[in-house]
Amino acid sequence: MYLDWSDAPASAESTSSGVSAVMETNKKGASETARTPVFQREPPPVATVAHATPSAVMDSELAESVSGLGSIDRAGGRVTVSAKRMINARADVNQLLPLKYSWAWEKYLSGCNNHWMPTEVAMQADIALWKSSDGLTDDERRMLKRNLGFFAASESLVANNIVLAIYRHLSNPECRQYLLRQAFEEAVHTHTFQYIVESLGLDEGELFNMYREVPSITDKAAWALKYTQHLDDPGFRTGTPETDQAFLRDLVAFYVVFEGMWFYTGFAQILSLGRRNKMVGIAEQYQYILRDESIHLNFGIDVINQIKIENPHLWTEPFQQELRGMLREAAILEASYGRDTMPRGFLGLNAALCEEYMHFIANRRCGQLGLAPVFPETANPFPWMSEAMDLKKEKNFFETRVIEYQNGGALRWE
Ligand code: FE
Ligand code: MN
Repeated sequence: MYLDWSDAPASAESTSSGVSAVMETNKKGASETARTPVFQREPPPVATVAHATPSAVMDSELAESVSGLGSIDRAGGRVTVSAKRMINARADVNQLLPLKYSWAWEKYLSGCNNHWMPTEVAMQADIALWKSSDGLTDDERRMLKRNLGFFAASESLVANNIVLAIYRHLSNPECRQYLLRQAFEEAVHTHTFQYIVESLGLDEGELFNMYREVPSITDKAAWALKYTQHLDDPGFRTGTPETDQAFLRDLVAFYVVFEGMWFYTGFAQILSLGRRNKMVGIAEQYQYILRDESIHLNFGIDVINQIKIENPHLWTEPFQQELRGMLREAAILEASYGRDTMPRGFLGLNAALCEEYMHFIANRRCGQLGLAPVFPETANPFPWMSEAMDLKKEKNFFETRVIEYQNGGALRWE
């Protein structure tokens, strides 16, 4: 089973074979009422608001049931689908079945079907080009190193946010099942940068410290960290409108901005080199990462939209404006990263085009969340990106596979 890419023109907002009912609802709402999100028209349900003022006792009970590590309720009834909730659920989070959110389960299956390892990609051509004196221009080298430096630490930031912040507060087992898969994929992505550093003989300290030492990269990381630091506080609990909104902000910062906006210019930079037959091994690895990330992004969007459906009182007009402001800020930060990585630009790529691309992407993300666009309508300056996303693993993956490779099913137990 392979995915349609979210940004492929033909598939518009549809995510994958795991397109959720949420996305459909959101899409209809957005087209019917232009810029008025469908959620705003419904009055806040009393039952959900009741969660907002729990007593101290209920608060600790809820925290136990959300973590899944509290004492076992021997007298409790079986979980019914209707008791399952994205956040603040009182249903046992250790019972995957009955499934409520099939879109989350579908994404887990898609992620597993896309399994790959960076070491399966041949690096000989990249090594030869990197070591040759005239294969790459200074501008291309600079962009490549900064791009790798940005991703090397970012994959880790994203992983830490999933494991230490998101997972604790997402009170649904099928979503957690996907998070466990995603966390492993982030490990594979971080592994990719280790493998590239080793293959090309890059300065590991320089690359892994760029997020601290290159101001435009630091600014992006620091911007996102603001939103996860809040959740990292051991006393943080969802369950009030304020904390539930803080959780949504973190989802937007990491899934929509980090993975859904900033990663996309990063992919465009490397795939643009690959299109000119430069650093083809890295470009192939980036295609696999992009395929994974597009599911991460769509999962995040589905999560946000489902929380919105279950908690319409959170999706206030000021909150929507705030989220739009976050996407606008993210695009500005990205523009300065673009100038830093490509001060002069080169064939087919420059900072101005990347900024345009970010505006196009930001508007797209707004549409997926049911928010009004933040930039004037912009055409996609990299239409080839949707083609790059059409990677079929079986088409070109196995050609480059080392013959010693064994997957789990091929192991013999002796
Ligand atoms: Fe990743
Ligand atoms: Mn990711």
